[in-house]
Amino acid sequence: MNRKFFSLHYGELALKGKNRGLFEDQLVRNLRASLDGLGVESVRKRPGRIIVEFADGGVWRSAADKIRKVFGLTTAYPVIRTEPDLADLEKVAVCAVDELKFESFAVRTRRANKNFPMTSPEINRHIGSAIQVASAARVDLRNPERTFYIEVLDRDIYFASEQIRCPGGLPAGISGHVVSMFSGGIDSPVASWMMMKRGLKTTFVHFHSMPFTDRASIEKVEDMAEVLGGWHGPLKLALIPFGEIQQKIVTAVPAKYRVVIYRRFMLRIADRVAREVGAGALITGESLGQVASQTLTNLASVEAVSELPLFRPLIGMDKQEIVDLAEKIGTYDLSIEPHSDCCSFLQPPNPVTKTTREELSRVESQLDIDALVQESLSNVEWKVIPD
Ligand code: ATP
Ligand code: MG
Repeated sequence: MNRKFFSLHYGELALKGKNRGLFEDQLVRNLRASLDGLGVESVRKRPGRIIVEFADGGVWRSAADKIRKVFGLTTAYPVIRTEPDLADLEKVAVCAVDELKFESFAVRTRRANKNFPMTSPEINRHIGSAIQVASAARVDLRNPERTFYIEVLDRDIYFASEQIRCPGGLPAGISGHVVSMFSGGIDSPVASWMMMKRGLKTTFVHFHSMPFTDRASIEKVEDMAEVLGGWHGPLKLALIPFGEIQQKIVTAVPAKYRVVIYRRFMLRIADRVAREVGAGALITGESLGQVASQTLTNLASVEAVSELPLFRPLIGMDKQEIVDLAEKIGTYDLSIEPHSDCCSFLQPPNPVTKTTREELSRVESQLDIDALVQESLSNVEWKVIPD
């Protein structure tokens, strides 16, 4: 049976007044972009939901794969549309059930049209008994193997035999623009995803030590960025050479300070990129105490070099919690592939865990900071990452 319609729900409780219109309009724009090429006939706002219609029901699986990654949506239903008439609904339900195997089921109705002559429990009972006869399965309201969903609207009724869970959050782009420091490790993709989920358009910067490290590591980072593009929509990735800065740091800075000084330079450069692209904040995947560069004092001495707000959405998370999310997002398998990270290149064995900004400024006084930052910035390579 062709499912040419999707009924999409979003968390409307949090939305009030003018924000609600902005939220819905951005969501509709993002949906159109995400479903581009799948033969969408219309994307329409209806009270409390968005209806997407396709020219051909055959695309519904690929459409579902896109829709489950659209931030702002909570649930989606691939639906069959019927007239606002119980007999018609019953026919559709019986016909849909015919394609499926299940031992127990429940029917759940939502009635947006309060003038419909039957209540939701009455509809549940009526359609439930028709499904029971057609399938010989039993009703189990607590733990059904399959749930059927009915939505009674003003002009039509929707019937769905499947619910798709979507990520929630806010539509990408509605909260502004940020730059995410994207390393190719486990953490920074998760941090980026968490902030994207709060509606931020995200540009990535990645520091590499080519030619001291290999091209394969950059390709891995591009592949990981593409996984995030699947959630966010196409995005831009700046590949920034960092090897020369590292060499200068190695000659001018005592070994124990190097990692923290690398981080300060990365942040200075990311700050400049953010200003160039009109972004209002920076993101890192740091988590308190995870490694030596992420102690309380080191986090403070690193962030001191940038005036933009720095978001660290993973700051209070344990590694396992981060790994679980990375698996859900789809970046975990790529992130554990071998990688020549620019920070393991020229990494000292015992980095400092306690620093002050004054101490670090002193340590850096041998370096021409502005020239080094400028040199890196003039060699940025931009990539457009597809969704
Ligand atoms: P990740 O798993 O994200 O690499 P990590 O636990 O390995 O994090 P670090 O390597 O110390 O920690 O990096 C801390 C943060 O600094 C990263 O989450 C990322 O935001 C940023 N960062 C580190 N290396 C790079 C890089 N090469 N390019 C861009 N950002 C980086
Ligand atoms: Mg790392």
